[in-house]
Amino acid sequence: MELKNFPVNELFQKWILDGETKLGEPELVKDVLNYLDGQKGEICGKCAPCRDGVVRIEQLLQLFENNKANLNTLKELEKLTYNLRASRCSVGLDIGKNLEVVLENNYNVLYKPVRKY
Ligand code: SF4
Repeated sequence: MELKNFPVNELFQKWILDGETKLGEPELVKDVLNYLDGQKGEICGKCAPCRDGVVRIEQLLQLFENNKANLNTLKELEKLTYNLRASRCSVGLDIGKNLEVVLENNYNVLYKPVRKY
């Protein structure tokens, strides 16, 4: 199946359409980082899951981009993504939902470079 570059900010709208929410492997981390960069102007800083979590998620994705990620990087990425469910408004909630789709439907792309066996 050929994967199209689906906009990360629209992923949660296609939550149940698994086939359509898979992202092109080579660009996945870059696409997600670009998406997060575009959300920064919306983040007001009132709650920690979004204010601190998004910054840390960016740092973790940069480790993937630089081939320095390990299994703990992926575990922390998952934890912070699900933590965005505790955000106070739709900005953090939507970022979290989009990233959950990335993790659920494209997990192999992030797991492949960090798996031990
Ligand atoms: S989730 Fe909303 S309230 Fe919390 S930091 Fe982000 S923009 Fe502000």
